[in-house]
Amino acid sequence: MSEHDLDEQLPEGGATVRPVVAVVGRPNVGKSTLVNRIIGRRAAVVQDIPGVTRDRVSYDARWNGREFVVVDTGGWAPDAQGMAAQIAEQAELAIAAADAVLLVVDATVGIQDVDEAVVRVLRRSKKPVVLAANKVDDQRTEAEAASMWNLGLGEPFPVSALHGRGTGDMLDAILQALPEAPTEIFDAPRGPRRVAIVGKPNVGKSSLLNKLAGQQRSVVDDASGTTVDPVDELVEIGGTVYQLIDTAGIRRRVKEASGHEYYASLRTQGAIERAEICIVVIDASEPISEQDLRILTMVEEAGRALVVAFNKWDLTDEERRFYLTREIERDMVQFGWAGHVNMSALTGRHVERVGVAIESALAAWETRVSTGKLNAFLGRVVAAHPHPVRSGKQPRILFGTQAQAGPPTFVLFTSGAIDPQYTRFVERRLREDFDFQGSPIHLEVRARE
Ligand code: GDP
Ligand code: GDP
Repeated sequence: MSEHDLDEQLPEGGATVRPVVAVVGRPNVGKSTLVNRIIGRRAAVVQDIPGVTRDRVSYDARWNGREFVVVDTGGWAPDAQGMAAQIAEQAELAIAAADAVLLVVDATVGIQDVDEAVVRVLRRSKKPVVLAANKVDDQRTEAEAASMWNLGLGEPFPVSALHGRGTGDMLDAILQALPEAPTEIFDAPRGPRRVAIVGKPNVGKSSLLNKLAGQQRSVVDDASGTTVDPVDELVEIGGTVYQLIDTAGIRRRVKEASGHEYYASLRTQGAIERAEICIVVIDASEPISEQDLRILTMVEEAGRALVVAFNKWDLTDEERRFYLTREIERDMVQFGWAGHVNMSALTGRHVERVGVAIESALAAWETRVSTGKLNAFLGRVVAAHPHPVRSGKQPRILFGTQAQAGPPTFVLFTSGAIDPQYTRFVERRLREDFDFQGSPIHLEVRARE
């Protein structure tokens, strides 16, 4: 899953990948003012952290229904010597991570050497560029904006970041420059959430299904016009209607002969793929087996939300529970993120908690962390625990954005290769700061070559 290319991955029910626009230009041309204008002056969530140069701040933006991420490079501290070089280098980093670039120049002072240095970087990057000639507060300055044609980047958009003049046309041009708009599936109305109850034979899947569904078999999805042996059933659990995947397979209780284990496994895999959340039923009265772990791994690899139901709790005594805890610590650390319920389908103990666990796992699965919040978090983490220096270089996380929900998938843009350990460390911190209990999360790293 983590190997997947995000650009190619737009799963059903997931969010869209938001393109990134980097705003570059020399100091004082009005980049920050323009960014505020673009994001509608929404309060900056990112605070300054003492001791850390926050040289890139990113925000969520929306124009004409299209969402994108704006990276403000306005905070770069210019240095008296080698300023041009430094700015060009910083711009290069932001540009490398962007899908399109907004180059801001100051129309009232004309083209400067530093502007040309940034243009050279832009040329090499081959990224689409929109040129904003800023500080065109009135018609009189418009002629000066035209002189920006000389940068060789095409039509300059005369804008006034301060008053908003011309920014609509500029934003239209930015949207045009961005990669093809993916269809906005995230906000689309959707049916009931799909739940799969999976587990090896005899753990209590059909007993749990019966307890959850009760006498509700009439609530079937009879789109086919028949209520006989529906493949999936609509069932109300804790006040919410869910679509239970492959209930026919569970209800028919085909006790597969050993030779059919392969087919049982395929069926399980199929149910997991079709579901958004899986309840993996484990018989708590027996040692956790390889087969249990294989099913858990399938769920994790499919990126589904997960609730582990430790069933047959009524058959466990203190000694068994002691060993179960050891087994969980030994074999299930990897699934520490899952929700879990200790229950009994026979006595009904804690069956109602399954509904609560499903709901919160789904909420975690669908979490959207705003780019501002995410970067405030990354700023804190990086400040407290910088990446170790590697062959004299300090790899850095430039900024991050959540590319998808269901499961939450984050992209970190970095300079230099980030150690996998460090990525795992950031992932743990993410889990601590935002509540993802019940959902896997993915972290992708895009390093600048
Ligand atoms: P940055 O360093 O590129 O981020 O520039 P800032 O956004 O901090 O702006 C630098 C200065 O230019 C500030 O004093 C702004 O108020 C001013 N400024 C920005 N945009 C405009 C504009 O459209 N018109 C005028 N007249 N001043 C502007
Ligand atoms: P499935 O093959 O996973 O669908 O499992 P079943 O629901 O058919 O259950 C297998 C056996 O375990 C049946 O005899 C059930 O009565 C029994 N069983 C299921 N849940 C519990 C439970 O919570 N406690 C006890 N003691 N037995 C259970």
